[in-house]
Amino acid sequence: THFGFEKVTEEEKTKKVYDVFRNVAANYDLMNDAMSFGIHRVWKDIFVERLGPTNGIDLLDVAGGTGDITFRVLRYLRNSNTPSLPGRITVCDINKSMLKVGEERALKAGYLEVEWVEGNAEKLPFEDNIYSAYTIAFGIRNVTRIDEALKEAYRVLKPGGRFMCLEFSLVENEVLRWFYDRYSFQMIPVIGQVVAGDWKSYQYLVESIRQFPAQDDFKLMIEDAGFVNSGQFSQDMIPTVGFNMRKI
Ligand code: SAM
Repeated sequence: THFGFEKVTEEEKTKKVYDVFRNVAANYDLMNDAMSFGIHRVWKDIFVERLGPTNGIDLLDVAGGTGDITFRVLRYLRNSNTPSLPGRITVCDINKSMLKVGEERALKAGYLEVEWVEGNAEKLPFEDNIYSAYTIAFGIRNVTRIDEALKEAYRVLKPGGRFMCLEFSLVENEVLRWFYDRYSFQMIPVIGQVVAGDWKSYQYLVESIRQFPAQDDFKLMIEDAGFVNSGQFSQDMIPTVGFNMRKI
């Protein structure tokens, strides 16, 4: 069965996404490695390098899930040549089960400075102008009202703050796209079934990638929220795209 987003209401989409991530939370990290052959680690490393965290960064990692981006930012600061400490570090996610896995990982790795907050990207539980960076990695396509989430990102960022988004992109090269589509539609649900005993959630993930707007259209949406381009609009890590924008 196909979920057919165009036929579901906004509430139904939000609930579907909630159920998917509740179901996948326990196996989320393992499945990311299995589905991408570990390559998601490289995409996330590059993403954080492009953010280039600096001393005192106030980071809000939205749809932060089990903490992959946040942990990389903290590791980046620890390994930096100049002594660097984070400011306020917040992971915000709508899903309790994902946050719980993240908190357990943080305890094990000694990242105790992270604050874990349950919240919807469309209505963030934070004041205006308080973060210097907002990250959202593989999260925005799951949000029901993307324009609302972008407005909220703008609101909570300080002037000059960075908006960084990592997402799957439309693969423009036709040959590559053929292989990518075969792999994602035919293999990912199978891997989901074998590794996590869950076909449907992974079928949703593949379909949500297909439904997401093309990168140029999405970039226009980010600009509509008031952000300006801050360097790269990089499509060099197929099948992902990174948006590096700034609040003025
Ligand atoms: N950023 C993490 C990473 O890169 O591994 C997690 C990405 S995971 C694919 C997507 C996350 O988006 C899930 O944890 C899900 O609960 C969260 N999410 C979906 N809709 C959301 C919303 N409206 N507000 C906040 N988080 C949301």
